[in-house]
Amino acid sequence: MQDYEYLLSSLDNVKGIGKKTIQLFYKKKIKTIFDLLWHLPVSKIETSKTTDISNLQIGKDQSIKLTPLKYNFPRIRNLPNRVNCLSNNEKIDCIFFNSYEGYIKNILPINTEIIVYGKIGFYKGKYQITNPKLLSKNEDGAIKDIKNYSLTEGLSITKYNKIVEEVLKKIPNLKEWHSKNIIQKFNNVSWKESIEKIHSYEYEKIYNSDYLRRLIFDEILANFLISSQIRLKIKKIKKKKKIFNKNIKFQYLNKLKFDLTEDQKKAIKVIEKDLSSKEKMFRLIQGDVGSGKTIVSLIAALNTIKSGYQVALMVPTEILAKQHYNFSSSFFDSDINIELISGKTDYLSKKNILKNLENNKTNLIIGTHALFQKKIKFKKLGLIIIDEQHKFGVNQRKELSDKGGSDCDVLVMSATPIPRTMMMTVYGDMDITLIREKPKNRKEIKTYSKLESKVKEVIKFAQNQISLGGQVFWVCPLIEKSKKLDHQSAVEKNKYLQKYFNKRVGLIHGSMKKEDKNKILNDFLNKKIDVLVSTTVIEVGIDFPKANVIIIENANKYGLSQLHQLRGRVGRGDEKSFCILLFKSNLSENAKKRINILKSSNDGFDISEQDMKLRGYGDILGFKQSGIKMFKLADPILHKDLFELAEEEIKRIENNNSDFGDYYKLLKLYDKVSIINDII
Ligand code: ADP
Ligand code: MG
Repeated sequence: MQDYEYLLSSLDNVKGIGKKTIQLFYKKKIKTIFDLLWHLPVSKIETSKTTDISNLQIGKDQSIKLTPLKYNFPRIRNLPNRVNCLSNNEKIDCIFFNSYEGYIKNILPINTEIIVYGKIGFYKGKYQITNPKLLSKNEDGAIKDIKNYSLTEGLSITKYNKIVEEVLKKIPNLKEWHSKNIIQKFNNVSWKESIEKIHSYEYEKIYNSDYLRRLIFDEILANFLISSQIRLKIKKIKKKKKIFNKNIKFQYLNKLKFDLTEDQKKAIKVIEKDLSSKEKMFRLIQGDVGSGKTIVSLIAALNTIKSGYQVALMVPTEILAKQHYNFSSSFFDSDINIELISGKTDYLSKKNILKNLENNKTNLIIGTHALFQKKIKFKKLGLIIIDEQHKFGVNQRKELSDKGGSDCDVLVMSATPIPRTMMMTVYGDMDITLIREKPKNRKEIKTYSKLESKVKEVIKFAQNQISLGGQVFWVCPLIEKSKKLDHQSAVEKNKYLQKYFNKRVGLIHGSMKKEDKNKILNDFLNKKIDVLVSTTVIEVGIDFPKANVIIIENANKYGLSQLHQLRGRVGRGDEKSFCILLFKSNLSENAKKRINILKSSNDGFDISEQDMKLRGYGDILGFKQSGIKMFKLADPILHKDLFELAEEEIKRIENNNSDFGDYYKLLKLYDKVSIINDII
């Protein structure tokens, strides 16, 4: 058995853990010894400090010094065994449910002063202590304190402490995986020492210590390493260079009504370099809503097509596919063949599309994830573009890259700016290009907050905007737990609003059929309706040029980044745009701060950064739903310096071009095994 394998072994190898206990641990998602070790103590219980009988508190777990005097074992079902004791000359009973007499006699020998620990009760004029535990002693005979872990119901704390102690006894001394330089920064503390310390009684003192910080760093580095190795592995895939005339794009750009921003130009340049290199491209373009990513991706498509390859553009929804199709059809000359494939495409057309793809007649195909069904075969796929897929995890991205084959570059676009320290965590497997600059003609979106009780004023405002030619999004709260309720509130809002807007109100929510959704969205696009009531952010990326007002109910339910994204649905046309945040009650100080961030900034990067500082990182991007693994110990705000250090270290490791080496153990421990096997 390898040393680390003990750590990954199941808990049933530990002394004192039976089947029942195992189940309790499973409930807490503690399956292996390593899992158990990651469950840190939350406080210390000073069981060594005994309480005088006059100060006992009923209902609390306390330690008390007592002398057993007499055993009462009634041998009647449901009656507990009882031991009469004296403490400081007062009577107190120890009572036992379901304990053997032998056990009781063993821990409570008559006429011997001992210390026990347990829940204090009061019965028939006397204190009693239920199922008391004898505390373990140190080598010097002094009584040990115990550590408090957050536990599952049914698991006693003394038992838990014993189990942890058993486990700690066998912790292997793992060979150091960090470089000298790194480990020096943590005062050379070893992994083993660190684990022991964080489970020791001194753990409070070590909260900010090298021990804990080292373990946190381990966690971050393990995460980054995997991403980095995926990146390097993809880079090692040699592809045929794409050869194209970089000037062709200018003919196209000249057709546009606008000039590219500097950031757009830079992004195009990097991509051109990627395309024409021997290494496979795996790049993320991250830019706020409305920063103009589409055109950047179309130029990438153009270059790829001009070098003789096909391009697949994948988007999350059919409407967005249609919109991209329309735009690219008008943008590209007729020598570039574009196809749209969707669920609606009928059998014959589909067959035709497949045929044209297989014989390279189609240059650009646009669609949803249906694009990557097995039966779809490309003759010469050279580039996959994935638009608005910020919820793709590392594994999904890698899978997609693999599907494309070795000559296929990959470009991912995301409109969810994330804080700097999270970048490597979420997108470490890709090269990243940011588009921070917004097109110059962008009009500011005025953001207001209003109490829900003033909804009539809001309706009036909306009516007025509609009479001026505008359109309105009305977003209803997202209630995660009860989807039904969620829809109901949107359904009700839809009913309620009809009379105010001449029945020109449509409803869209997540559990509607695709066709129904598409119909409503098209109605809204074609101005058959003026107000679109929706439950969630269903349709990112779509241009509704006439929509200039977005009203968001129960706005404090959303993270700032989410609100900012929602807000980005308007302000794409020439009209002045508005975002109205509705609140159920007056705002708390913290909520006010958050709203002010939103009002004062229109930069998604800035907003996400500030939001993370206010709310913690877990919530900001709705990552919880995304399946992106979060950290157990590390926190990008508290441990910013460690994230930065890990980034530096990753660069060093990459430059050394070394393989996993000693890091292999680290990664094994962090449950990255499945990915590792795929990478090596
Ligand atoms: P996103 O980055 O959110 O995908 P889009 O690419 O959809 O943004 O662009 C939003 C709108 O801005 C589109 O109508 C697009 O034509 C326009 N646009 C893109 N780049 C510029 C620019 N440099 N100047 C002005 N308008 C632009
Ligand atoms: Mg877009």
